[in-house]
Amino acid sequence: MQKIYLSPPHLTGEEGNYLNEVLASGWIAPMGAFVDEFENQIAQKIGAKYALATNSGTSALHLALLCANIEAGDYVLVSTFTFVASANPILYQNAIPIFIDSDEKSWNICPIALENALIDCQKKQIFPKVLVLTHLYGQAADMDKIIEIVSKYNLILIEDAAESLGCTWNNQHVGTFGKYGFFSFNGNKIITTSAGGMLIIPDEEYRKKALFLATQAKDEAHHYQHSEIGYNYRLSNILAGMGVAQMKFLSQKIQKKKEIFKFYQENLPKNIDFMPELPQSNGNRWLTCVLFENFEQREKVRNILTKNQIESRPLWKPLHLQPLFQKNLYFGEHISEKLFEKGLCLPSGTQLTESEQMTIIDLIKSVI
Ligand SMILES: *Cc1c(COP(=O)(O)O)cnc(C)c1O
Repeated sequence: MQKIYLSPPHLTGEEGNYLNEVLASGWIAPMGAFVDEFENQIAQKIGAKYALATNSGTSALHLALLCANIEAGDYVLVSTFTFVASANPILYQNAIPIFIDSDEKSWNICPIALENALIDCQKKQIFPKVLVLTHLYGQAADMDKIIEIVSKYNLILIEDAAESLGCTWNNQHVGTFGKYGFFSFNGNKIITTSAGGMLIIPDEEYRKKALFLATQAKDEAHHYQHSEIGYNYRLSNILAGMGVAQMKFLSQKIQKKKEIFKFYQENLPKNIDFMPELPQSNGNRWLTCVLFENFEQREKVRNILTKNQIESRPLWKPLHLQPLFQKNLYFGEHISEKLFEKGLCLPSGTQLTESEQMTIIDLIKSVI
């Protein structure tokens, strides 16, 4: 049997045409027509005005933090139940992450834990400047409550929508609620350029600033002149060509991800809990995530799948439990820890067939 991966890249057959066009044009540098087109397509799709293509989601977040003037010693609130890339750029700035737990109803950041954190921080004379909020596994966080808290405490919101392209909250696309937002086009994401990202920015002035920082901070001069630290964070025109090809299939891919989720839901035993979704969220179901009774049962399932060449993954290990962040503050009721203990991401690639899915379902049934 062929190995089944968690969420492998799915090429659509169109990429070659676009890559040939790039090669024929000779413009393979990190600028060119496809970079502009890819930016415009994403901006148009989500209803944003300004987008900047980057070489990863991580670098897009770093640029957002730079635009928000996050410096050494600043405090940044961040979801704990997420990938480490949501917090690493905070460390690049020598700033200090404070971790906020999940809500049982969405698995995303808990508004109550967030507000408790802000109240406690005030007592400690700590004044966080930014909230980095992840829309987890394709589903939106509780944006109504979050926006209220963000404005009450004067926070700058950065949305980590790396996994959630196409997801909406009350019909508005995630990535457009905050001052900044970003997406990832890494190999496992819903559309992929092999590696890449997109920063969503509020206006022309910030776009200029982010572009300046992403291209080695070149001052205006005929020679090479620099007065600030710059980065090499732009997306190449070749990869942007892949992005344009992949964008044609975004709706189909979301549809397929939802069908995969539904098929698991209809065919797995009813005592298995699925990742919930708030009614205002219309997510992309990037990965189907489920909870088993306990850690032992989760491991039984994971092991039988592994033995049969099927890749599955425990849910994110909460960042406040990572050795890297053991000295950082954490606020919440340990919801994410319980999810980590019992949870598993099931294969959810858009090329998965129903018969492969049935094999996975039968294997799970055989051990629980
Ligand atoms: C994938 C991912 C990132 C990072 O994106 P890259 O393009 O791999 O740098 C950040 N946050 C979350 C939640 C992700 O899943």
